[in-house]
Amino acid sequence: MAKISRREFLKHSFWLAGGLMAMRYIKLPVFAQDGKPCKWSREAMFYTPTARGIRCQLCPNECTIRPGETGDCRNRVNYKGKLYTIAYGNPCAVHVDPIEKKPLYHYLPGTKSFSIATAGCNFACLNCQNWEISQSSPKETRNVELFPEQVVDQAIRNGCKTIAYTYSEPITFYEYMYDTAGIAHKKGIGNLLISNGYINEEPLRTLAPKIDAANIDLKAFSNDIYMKLTAGTLEPILNTLQILRDMNVWVEITNLVIPTWTDDYAMIRKMCQWLVSNGFSEVPLHFSRFFPLYKLTQLPQTPTSTLVKAKEIAQSCGIKYVYIGNTALPGSGNTICPSCGGVVVERKGMNVSSVNIKNGKCAWCGAPIAGKWG
Ligand code: SF4
Repeated sequence: MAKISRREFLKHSFWLAGGLMAMRYIKLPVFAQDGKPCKWSREAMFYTPTARGIRCQLCPNECTIRPGETGDCRNRVNYKGKLYTIAYGNPCAVHVDPIEKKPLYHYLPGTKSFSIATAGCNFACLNCQNWEISQSSPKETRNVELFPEQVVDQAIRNGCKTIAYTYSEPITFYEYMYDTAGIAHKKGIGNLLISNGYINEEPLRTLAPKIDAANIDLKAFSNDIYMKLTAGTLEPILNTLQILRDMNVWVEITNLVIPTWTDDYAMIRKMCQWLVSNGFSEVPLHFSRFFPLYKLTQLPQTPTSTLVKAKEIAQSCGIKYVYIGNTALPGSGNTICPSCGGVVVERKGMNVSSVNIKNGKCAWCGAPIAGKWG
């Protein structure tokens, strides 16, 4: 998941400068004075009333929420027996990013993506790089009013081919994303889901036709580590990967390598073997460097040698496109043709300096290169 820097986050208190956009971020109420949900709230899409309260069925946490209470993600509220999202039209982060920042390397390289997030997340990752917004409620962050039609309008005005739902956890602003994505498709704009993948099957299958590409974090290949590191579980993520792939969403995977948590080579090998044996050998895998943040500041950053070794393991297992992110390692972001070894997309940081792909094929040897190249 792309990090927004502290400087970028603080900038939200003032003005967002982005070409045609100039927006003021302020505290927007999510409830009217009488406690009723208001302008920036909508009835949630997936829930069931039970004797003990409302059960939210959006993600595997399946929170039971009593009247006046909020779910674990901090943005779903039980008001008089109905479940409301309070994250609708009130993003706390709005940026125009290169698509490479997501990271998506095999989907329209070199294009811009209009990127939005509201506060809230259904995980509680110890290493979260965007914890200021992910571990907050829309009641606490400074937000800007931007309803779905306006998001799409701003994306078009800023020359973006896609809208990215990103930074915090878009699953928890599902209804806002769903409505925005529908309008975007009607106007020829694509939708990118940048997510932890922790979502139930029905909402995922409902959303997937509106999503064109996704980067899903596969944070570890151990349920025990998932529970301790994120407060989630592994199995739903693996289901999400398979459903998205089967529903023709272009998928890439990010694995953050955290010293002492997820840098176990045997586990990395097991993860890669699972990916290959389940048909993900052509799905780009991004190993990402950890920097000490949030509740893991006592750890060192990931040594480059560990990331290089992880890449070697993935390649030896049969994964064709492997990247190393968050480093200045020369060539680590280039796309290499698995057939001839030629550089088909050359990147310097987030910038694409050359694309040598013609009609989806390597310009040097003619082998197909998996992806949507535009
Ligand atoms: S989306 Fe939020 S409220 Fe719903 S189950 Fe997940 S964490 Fe709980």
